[in-house]
Amino acid sequence: MRYYDVVVVGAGPAGSACARLCAEQGLSTCLIEEHGTIGHPVQCAGLLSCAAFRECGATRKSVMNEVSGARIITAAGSELEFDAGRTRAVVVDRGALDREMAMQAADAGVEVRLKTAYRGRTGSAIRTRGVSGRAEIPFRVLVAADGPRSPVARSLGMQRPPIFLSGLQAEISRDMDGRHVELYPDASPEFFGWVIPIGKRRARIGLCGTQDIPERFRSFCRGICGESILNLVSGTVPLGVMPKTYGYATLFIGDAAGFPKPTSGGGVYTGVRSAGHAAAVASTACLKNDTSDAVIGEYERRWKADFGRELELGLRVFRLRQQLSAGDIDRLVRLLNNPGIIGDIRRYGDMDRPGAIIRHLLKNPKLFPVLGILLKGGVRQIIKQ
Ligand SMILES: Cc1cc2nc3c(=O)[nH]c(=O)nc-3n(C[C@H](O)[C@H](O)[C@H](O)COP(=O)(O)OP(=O)(O)OC[C@H]3O[C@@H](n4cnc5c(N)ncnc54)[C@H](O)[C@@H]3O)c2cc1C
Repeated sequence: MRYYDVVVVGAGPAGSACARLCAEQGLSTCLIEEHGTIGHPVQCAGLLSCAAFRECGATRKSVMNEVSGARIITAAGSELEFDAGRTRAVVVDRGALDREMAMQAADAGVEVRLKTAYRGRTGSAIRTRGVSGRAEIPFRVLVAADGPRSPVARSLGMQRPPIFLSGLQAEISRDMDGRHVELYPDASPEFFGWVIPIGKRRARIGLCGTQDIPERFRSFCRGICGESILNLVSGTVPLGVMPKTYGYATLFIGDAAGFPKPTSGGGVYTGVRSAGHAAAVASTACLKNDTSDAVIGEYERRWKADFGRELELGLRVFRLRQQLSAGDIDRLVRLLNNPGIIGDIRRYGDMDRPGAIIRHLLKNPKLFPVLGILLKGGVRQIIKQ
């Protein structure tokens, strides 16, 4: 039986990036994936900031479109449009991106095993089931990159993220401005709906929320494109990081840890960033031959220093959003629709790190009427951060 320094469960972007980085540091690494095809089924709108896409380390083969701005459209008809004047994000074919990232891991020396599902753990070996029957794979460090439901976390009895949003998305035929993403806050009152252009007369339409998702999705689609949709996909977005992201010689990364941004649901950026921190800590643990919490706990310190504050602030904004009515949101959009504020959004807006623009806007005297709307939602805590 072959023994590995690191076994990674799940070949999504976080798992493949972590496995590649471990192998590049000279660690013997095995990456297992329960499906027979990487990147399938796709559960993603594929909108990545330019920085997030760079973090993936992939070529541009999966890029389908580039976007430079957004339009926010309320049910009452108010609109806010901004354009950065240059590409700020790309829209990718997530299946193709995931396959390329897994291929890069294999090129770096990772042993990739498909149709191999994690089924549990016995000491320092995982039990798997799949195309080659039942097996045990021994490891020194285990990396759980097994997505929102994380069977690894569940089998170890780890506490899970507190919020799970459900999402539905489809492809549609639609003429729209190919450089702008459209956001519809009223399509799903706890979160929002989106229409993302992916090419000529093609777009992805979707929404996330906590309840009535199929009904809301049907009514949202009807308003935008009628009844005709293609490639319907569903998925889950965990929000709020699990209380402890390491333990039992295991590091939890990406969606398994609850790293998607609560302001957008995007999880590729934080997933791949967390993969880098996990690979560095796995390397130290293997070098010291010590996988105790004292050593691997460094992982949590690292990701918190990197994007922990952003996630905390994002969760506060998410909770605040729950308390705003459609009327509040409409007033907010109208107040934000001001050339000075749009200029600030263009200058300071960052999809991956929205903290700076949120704090900046909340301190702008032109926006004091906005504070009136938000005060009931506990905006003081956000400004204090
Ligand atoms: C509708 C929707 C739209 C989204 N849009 C965006 C977006 O536009 N931009 C963005 O950044 N993020 C988006 N996200 C979030 C994004 O998809 C995730 O954050 C991202 O995929 C997380 O990557 P990951 O590698 O952590 O997990 P995943 O991509 O979920 O990968 C986990 C892998 O683990 C495998 N696995 C699970 N269990 C086992 C097991 N027992 N054994 C072996 N393998 C297993 C799975 O098959 C899967 O391949 C969206 C999510 C949804 C639901």
